[in-house]
Amino acid sequence: MYFFRTITVNPSIPERISRLKELSYNLWFSWNPEALELFERINNQKWREMQHNPVKFLLHVCHEDLEKVANDSDYLTLYDKVMADLDNYMGSETWFKSKYSNLADKPIAYFSAEFGLHESLPIYSGGLGVLAGDHCKAASDIGLPLVGIGLLYKQGYFTQQINREGWQEALYPYQNYNEMPVKPTLDAEGKEIIIPVDLPGRTVYLKVWEIQVGRIKIYLMDADITMNNEHDRQLTAQLYGGDKDTRISQEMLLGIGGVKTLRKLEINPVVWHINEGHAAFLCIERLRELVQSGIPLNTAKEAIRSSTLFTTHTPVPAGHDVFDGDKVDYYLNGYYSMLGVDRNGFLNFGWDSQRNSFNMTVLAMNFAAYCNGVSKLHGEVTRKMFRYLYDHIPVEEVPVFSVTNGIHTLTWISKEFRNLLNTYLGPEWISNISDPSQWQAVDNIPDQELWHSHKELKKKAFQFIRETLRKQKDRNQESAENIFEIKEYLNPDAFTIGFARRFATYKRATLLFRDRERLARLLTDPERPVQIIFAGKAHPADRPGQELIKQVYDISQQEPFRGKIIFIENYDMNVARHMLQGVDMWLNTPRWPMEASGTSGMKAAANGVLNCSVLDGWWPEAYHEDNGFAIGKDTGYRTEEEQDNDDAYHLYSLLEDKIIPTYYKQREGYPPDWIRMMKSCIKTIAPQFSTERMVKEYTERFYIEAAQRGMQFYADHFQVAAEIQDFKRYIKENWHHVAVKLVNANGIKEKELKVGDQLDLAAEVYLGPIKPEDVAVEVVHGCEGDHTLVGIKATPLQLEGPRGEGSYHYRGGFKLDQGTCGFTVRIRPDHPLFATKFELPLASWAQNF
Ligand SMILES: *Cc1c(COP(=O)(O)O)cnc(C)c1O
Repeated sequence: MYFFRTITVNPSIPERISRLKELSYNLWFSWNPEALELFERINNQKWREMQHNPVKFLLHVCHEDLEKVANDSDYLTLYDKVMADLDNYMGSETWFKSKYSNLADKPIAYFSAEFGLHESLPIYSGGLGVLAGDHCKAASDIGLPLVGIGLLYKQGYFTQQINREGWQEALYPYQNYNEMPVKPTLDAEGKEIIIPVDLPGRTVYLKVWEIQVGRIKIYLMDADITMNNEHDRQLTAQLYGGDKDTRISQEMLLGIGGVKTLRKLEINPVVWHINEGHAAFLCIERLRELVQSGIPLNTAKEAIRSSTLFTTHTPVPAGHDVFDGDKVDYYLNGYYSMLGVDRNGFLNFGWDSQRNSFNMTVLAMNFAAYCNGVSKLHGEVTRKMFRYLYDHIPVEEVPVFSVTNGIHTLTWISKEFRNLLNTYLGPEWISNISDPSQWQAVDNIPDQELWHSHKELKKKAFQFIRETLRKQKDRNQESAENIFEIKEYLNPDAFTIGFARRFATYKRATLLFRDRERLARLLTDPERPVQIIFAGKAHPADRPGQELIKQVYDISQQEPFRGKIIFIENYDMNVARHMLQGVDMWLNTPRWPMEASGTSGMKAAANGVLNCSVLDGWWPEAYHEDNGFAIGKDTGYRTEEEQDNDDAYHLYSLLEDKIIPTYYKQREGYPPDWIRMMKSCIKTIAPQFSTERMVKEYTERFYIEAAQRGMQFYADHFQVAAEIQDFKRYIKENWHHVAVKLVNANGIKEKELKVGDQLDLAAEVYLGPIKPEDVAVEVVHGCEGDHTLVGIKATPLQLEGPRGEGSYHYRGGFKLDQGTCGFTVRIRPDHPLFATKFELPLASWAQNF
């Protein structure tokens, strides 16, 4: 290696349009089609060559083109409008500021290993990253004081190329930050910010960068600087790359480096949101800060918990990040002495007894008073998965909640549909996306107009897909006939199915290929032709995933599927946008219940593309008969084989009997029943499954409470945190005394019970040294399930008085629901400052009565 200095030579942008540069660095452009048009109109060809990256575009576009538009009055009108819109956006009143003005300057830190904001920033791999990006965009829209923290990956996530044999090749093109919408973060003196993080035997230095996303900032850390040795410079090269050593190092840089970055910038968050376990080491660094400033460990832990929210995204145990004890020892033993704990003490912060290893999800759960999954079903799956951490409480009451994912509507909706909504809902629809009532006006869009816009998008998508295929085949030096043939591919009048996602095996991309003859009959029907477009990357280490890609590719080359099944390479946000705006139906076939949420179907739905999906992830919450299609049953099966067969055959008949006939029942070139479903789909899905709804929900259910609790816990030198920790310790030490001694529910026997009757009972409990105000005694009732209660409700019993020697009388009752009901009495610790009912997951249950 030899040394050279880099300088970036900026084009001279004519004064009249000089704010283009500012615009190119604010990701606000990514959800404003007119802003994008400003760049595109300068030089359409160059704009595509530069992959819609405005920073790169402005560096490469020639001066004459800029001069030309600077003298074009039409262009200047648009320019002035976009700049006015931007200023208006940046300065306008927001939902959050008007509602929670006292918290408007209290930051919420949002840590994520990936952020999917735009194709010009390839620092995301898939759904998790896009969700994080959409979360930040919505936070900006509603005025939430959120700051993002992540890593800047020199090689990003890989670029996928499909070779002539149909194998995926992973490319890591060099990312030139000078040509991306990121800027180095500077301190007050205009100097770059460098953050030190200790790894075994050395210090790794991180340079801090920032991205402007509307009103908010995301700070990204990068180890690729000359202060680090060659090995360490590679630590942030790839997203999810490398072995366990790279993974733990990277996660330390993210979690520990992230906290240090915020401190350096003098940003003091009141809420810390951990988006997936990768970032959970932030808890350890916050713990170190407090312990080294003299706060006792357990008090510090309570303070951290009070202000931390953790969102888990992984419904399969194998998907959670774990490290063995020795790895933790090697990388984190420096923390043992700083925290004053021994090896076991530290490992206990994240020990997963089932997998016998240190689990980042468990670490996050231990340090976050609030924890959620990303759909109702995923919440349920997560509660089941981690119930072993909560011995004493029913699975239903495991303190993991759910906030169903959403999408940043303006990022994903096509310009054409946005215009339709502007016309028929009124232009103000964009400032209140999550309000379902305004979406009723979708019914007023004339059928022909809706269909016309949809057809236009279809044509646009097909053109893009053919172009992509041509480039791929050119590169692979395929024959001239093969390349020539592409122009016959994809008929805009044919029913078109889209399937694009990560090629993980559980997503079952090839489910439709189970019965090839039946599939062939479907695709080659001359009256009612069908075509399918596939896209998706498999993780470079996931061989079975790559084999699935090859299978799809192979089929796409064979008669009679050639030209009717298409695989296009390099699924990214750009490919996603084209596909999900331009197909008729979006197919989703995960093996139930392994899809945490899924969001691409929400993007499709906002564009009137009907979902056909297994009832997994978000779909059970959205689906009804008129807004899409459901495959299979929403339950498990005995074997995967059985489930795959059942779902495949159900999917074939759904297509044959319902979907295709509905689509092709056309009148004067448009299908009225299909269009009715499209409207129902937009109306019912777009408001509910938006990040506007989602981020408001996070705010109202968690952020506000965590901010207030956190401030309370930290105040007066951690007095409340210390109290809570004393309380928890005292309760834990004395809990073995606690017992329900007697339950008297004799009332039941004396009369026939009817719905709505009150069931009265009395209980005698023993609390020993624990005071009655420190517990809740409640009757727990619900329907009878398989050795459990389901649909659990808990009704408090009232203290009647002491019976002496640590025993107490309680009395109360509940109203009976119809059916077989079960009930019992339990005691659990209770404190007004508990975040959730099972902040301290202990309970003592009646034995027998
Ligand atoms: C939305 C999106 C995803 C996530 O979609 P799923 O429904 O979870 O598969 C993945 N990759 C890209 C590029 C996306 O835009």
